[in-house]
Amino acid sequence: MKYQRINIFLLLLALSFLSACESETASTAGSENRPPNIIIIFADDLGYGDLGTYGNPTIRTPHLDQMAAEGLKFFQFYSGASVCTPSRAALLTGRLPIRSGMASDRYRVLFPFSASGLPSEEITLAEALKEQGYQTGIVGKWHLGHHPQYLPLRHGFDTFYGLPYSNDMLPRPNAKWGPARKYPPLPLYQDTAVLDTNPDQRLLTKQYTEKAKAFIDAHEEEPFFLYMPHSFPHVPLFASPDFEGKSSRGLYGDVVEELDWSVGQILNTLKEKGLDKNTLVVFTSDNGPWLTEKQEGGSAGLLHQGKGSTFEGGMREPTIAWWPGRIAPGITQSLGTTMDIYATAVKLAGGSLPDDRTYDGTDLSPVFDDPNAKVRDEVIYYLGAQVFAYRKGPWKMHLKTLNPYIGEQPVAHDPPLLYQLEHDPSERFNLAAEHPEVLEELRAALQRHLDGVKSVPSVLEDIDQSYFE
Ligand code: MG
Repeated sequence: MKYQRINIFLLLLALSFLSACESETASTAGSENRPPNIIIIFADDLGYGDLGTYGNPTIRTPHLDQMAAEGLKFFQFYSGASVCTPSRAALLTGRLPIRSGMASDRYRVLFPFSASGLPSEEITLAEALKEQGYQTGIVGKWHLGHHPQYLPLRHGFDTFYGLPYSNDMLPRPNAKWGPARKYPPLPLYQDTAVLDTNPDQRLLTKQYTEKAKAFIDAHEEEPFFLYMPHSFPHVPLFASPDFEGKSSRGLYGDVVEELDWSVGQILNTLKEKGLDKNTLVVFTSDNGPWLTEKQEGGSAGLLHQGKGSTFEGGMREPTIAWWPGRIAPGITQSLGTTMDIYATAVKLAGGSLPDDRTYDGTDLSPVFDDPNAKVRDEVIYYLGAQVFAYRKGPWKMHLKTLNPYIGEQPVAHDPPLLYQLEHDPSERFNLAAEHPEVLEELRAALQRHLDGVKSVPSVLEDIDQSYFE
């Protein structure tokens, strides 16, 4: 009797073990057949030194800190430009803005008086992923053209909730700059319709978060691409009543802490739905901190300068890649750019880059496998349509420098300034005189890039004349 009971117990144990194996196999097989979901969370004007996990002493970012602890933290990751519009063009096309017409020396971003937007010939990441069967949504700030033919639904997104451009582009009767006095009311879009004008910006981050969670809810059974370009911490700063006045860093800290909360909401939603093991989430920023906004702007930490500059503070961004079970927790010194996110996502989706155009990104998957892998050796720092600086390995040369928000004219450097970024991340010690051979190598490498660039006429120059009548 006693042995019989033990046998039945063993039988039940074996059966439950078998059924556990079976369900494990089923779920693994399911995720193997289905390419990963892709989520890009893109902050606006967040600096390299603005997160707890990147050393900020007074801004609390527990969710991003945890994301970094569970994921891969990059220390040398770059945006494609140091201001909003070209940076977004680089991320969504995988190409330097000079190739898509989204770079110009006169106007660096699109304004409410601009006539143009991202050309329809460009293949956005949303279009490339749609081709692979993805559902695509954008929640947040677009800034690649606000006229109907340039809005997100014309560029591969199934849904859009958010602003067509920056949150400071609203009527400002006292603005110093003439055109800004006439800005129309700031529109909030749902798909192609204006849902509201001059929305209460204190609620934007919360609304974006709810919309993003609803998008995940709606598409949990199929591969999806969610692009979440937040409107903040771009000025003017607004936080919801839950966050306003809570950070010891002041309003800027309140705003960043609410963004951190939002990231936590997205990651927790994925975990609750069991989607975390099949979703790549990348958090980064479009450009460095707007330093001339003083305490309302962020911090580039130990990096020099910020938004609008081709010093490191303008384009090196806090960046975390998170994909539990696929990306081992760690840190990496490997170079990366937002254009690499495009190449990586297309590859993970099972697609390949079209061969009828030049791409400037590289698949980062080898770095996900091994944080010491090197997939990229160079970074090209354009300001408008010109190369201002060039990095190869640890070395960076500046041909020109400019901090456009303080009214400087570009300063040409001959010989160029030369910094060893791994020894001197703050770009303080010019080594041009000591290392002419390095300058020579960098000049030759940059020339090879320039020889391959066929720049496209800028669309940022196209002005809607009716705006001024
Ligand atoms: Mg920006």
